[in-house]
Amino acid sequence: MIIIQMDFDNTISVGNVSIEVRNEFAPNTWLEMEEEYHSGKFSVEESNVRQYALISNNQKQIETFVLANCKLKNGFAKFIQTCVDIGVNPVIVSSGLDFYIHPLVLREGLDSLQVICAKGSFKESGIKVNYYDPEGKEISSGFKETFLRDFKRAGHTVIYFGDNESDFVAASEADFVFACDSLVDYCQSNSIPYKEFVDYYEARELLIEKIGSFDGMESSD
Ligand SMILES: [Mg+2]
Repeated sequence: MIIIQMDFDNTISVGNVSIEVRNEFAPNTWLEMEEEYHSGKFSVEESNVRQYALISNNQKQIETFVLANCKLKNGFAKFIQTCVDIGVNPVIVSSGLDFYIHPLVLREGLDSLQVICAKGSFKESGIKVNYYDPEGKEISSGFKETFLRDFKRAGHTVIYFGDNESDFVAASEADFVFACDSLVDYCQSNSIPYKEFVDYYEARELLIEKIGSFDGMESSD
């Protein structure tokens, strides 16, 4: 079947919720750690483990902040309904954290949308972050492409939605890409077939068009 594998921060959400959370709750040392991530010293997963450990607030405080300050791009709930209606399978695969993704998705009434992301546990010493691969084994890099490869191995066609460098590997192995921000330039420079989208009303129209062109190559299931 066709899987719509979707990044969360700045792909589904307006802006980057993870950055807003760290900006609000983490001491300023997160900015140095973020520099180290951008310089390639740490994977996005390792970087989240380090940075979220700096936060000592509780889950309720973060959830309240996120619900008051963050939202999803226009048309997202309708887009997901359309995916279901046309028989494709949307799934969020994000290296972001469950405690901010779930409340924002649930607020849209999307209780049955599958979300695969980092697990955050609130401890005295800060938030502990864990990533698990499709077999439940802990991993510290390549989270998004690990799931993409698992979908591909199972014979699925994967349409990938993303926005930045943490999506480059997965996007380059997907069957087709829906891109915003720096992923657009990456797809262009690397001859990866893609469509650029701004919101989910636009993505919905483009997806319906695109699925038509996939119909011939799909094995029925
Ligand atoms: Mg993102």
